[in-house]
Amino acid sequence: MNHPVIQGNKWHKLRFNLQYAKSQGMQTLITFGGAYSNHIAATAAAGKAFGFKTVGIIRGEELAKRPQNWSPTLQTAYANGMRFQFIDRQTYRLKNTQDFLKQLQHHHPHSLMLPEGGSNERAMLGFQSVIEQLHQQCPGWSHLFTAVGTGGTLAGLAKMAALNQPSHRQRLLGVATLNQADFLQKTIRQLSGFQSHTDQHKQVIWQLLTQYSGGGYAKTTDACLADQHWFEGTFGILLDPIYTNKMVHGFLEEMRQQRIPPNAKVILYHSGGLQGRSEEDGQNNSVKTD
Ligand SMILES: *Cc1c(COP(=O)(O)O)cnc(C)c1O
Repeated sequence: MNHPVIQGNKWHKLRFNLQYAKSQGMQTLITFGGAYSNHIAATAAAGKAFGFKTVGIIRGEELAKRPQNWSPTLQTAYANGMRFQFIDRQTYRLKNTQDFLKQLQHHHPHSLMLPEGGSNERAMLGFQSVIEQLHQQCPGWSHLFTAVGTGGTLAGLAKMAALNQPSHRQRLLGVATLNQADFLQKTIRQLSGFQSHTDQHKQVIWQLLTQYSGGGYAKTTDACLADQHWFEGTFGILLDPIYTNKMVHGFLEEMRQQRIPPNAKVILYHSGGLQGRSEEDGQNNSVKTD
């Protein structure tokens, strides 16, 4: 609800990056993503709102000459002024290498490069106020569920929760939306600054749950869909088809398996992403109840 397009966690990850880019007099934001990336949509909208040019390096060279095949996410980003460079999947894998980044910087001077998903050190800072708000609104919370794509959000929430030095144990559970997401442990460790069990005060624990990815990124299962419809119908809160649906499904599964103690105070962090619903059901953003 931060903004129609700069939603949820994407705004928090962008805020301090935008501030930095302004303070350095940079004119352009360059970032990376797939055709359905909420971060691409958010960066384009943020560029428009705050006066930056935006460039999206998009995975999938086949889209270059076929704007009619662009996802609604890409179309919205384009309408918000983002210009695209489409690259093949192999080249896309090089996106974090020094050579690749140097070349990009050369072509786009005075620009800030944001990694895929916007998950960098500066993005972590955005979660400080989120943790403060959670602390005020849900004092004494013990568990927090969040969806995981690149891991930046889980890392930011864990980092800021630990800095807050809670007086009791807090568990942050990240529901991975990609298959075989264990490789993200390293990123989460780096960005949060601690291993899951070793924050300085040993009060904050983060954990990556990899068993609820439901067949992989942007794929879903009947069980996940059923939980999504139940949740939306019961609470009147919409979920997105890639992230928050799996987060809720993961939470309900953990409940069913009695992994959440009875006295727990659980937060389900709605990280946004509703702009992605138009991909699925043709602009139909109304709550479905049965
Ligand atoms: C991008 C996104 C995530 C994943 O965030 P990461 O920081 O990449 O792990 C979760 N939820 C929504 C709605 C998103 O758009």
